[in-house]
Formats: sequence, C-alpha cells, structure tokens
Amino acid sequence: MSFQCPCCNSRKVASLRTAMTVGAIVGSIGGAARSANPAFAGSQMGATFDAIAGPSGIIIGTVFSAILGRLVAGVRGCALGAQLGENLDRHVLANNLCLVCGHRFNLPT
Ligand SMILES: [Zn+2]
Repeated sequence: MSFQCPCCNSRKVASLRTAMTVGAIVGSIGGAARSANPAFAGSQMGATFDAIAGPSGIIIGTVFSAILGRLVAGVRGCALGAQLGENLDRHVLANNLCLVCGHRFNLPT
C-alpha cells in the first residue's frame, strides 16, 4: 500500500493506527462476551466434538466448546474491530502522517 501526501506528494506516509488498536481490543472483548450466549457457534462445535468423543466426552466437549467458542468469537471480533478501526484511521481521523512535511490527512473515500 502506498499513499501520497496531498501537500508535498511524498510517498513516505506513516499510518497512526489509534482507532485500529482500539477497535481490535473492543472487538475482542465484544466477541468474547457475545460468545457467552449458548446459542452461539461455539456450542455447535462442542456438539460435533461430543459426537466424535461419545457420551463420555460430553462434559469435556461442553468445557471445550465454551473455551473454543470464546476464543473464536474473540478472534472474529478482533478482526472486525481492527478492520473498522483501520477505516476510521484512514478516512475519518486523519491518521495518515507525511514523514517529509508532517502533514496529517484523510484518504479520499
Ligand atoms: Zn507531505
């Protein structure tokens, strides 16, 4: 990805990823919290695991699905939040910094 400074046309542009970092963290927490819902996909994975392990694996499967579901949801939320944050950084918060003249600017949408 190469961006150009609208001021001096330099291609040395740094991206300050404030919103992206915040978005990733908020997304992770939100995703993990949402997975507390038993109807979430994690329980489906657990059911699959139960089917493989048999009746004796039900308890293990339930615990496993709860942990795995939370992890997956956290990663999903993190990716989504990071994506949202990156768009905010690039187009809304003027977090593109020219390393030559120090100009901060938004990318055209
Ligand atoms: Zn510049």
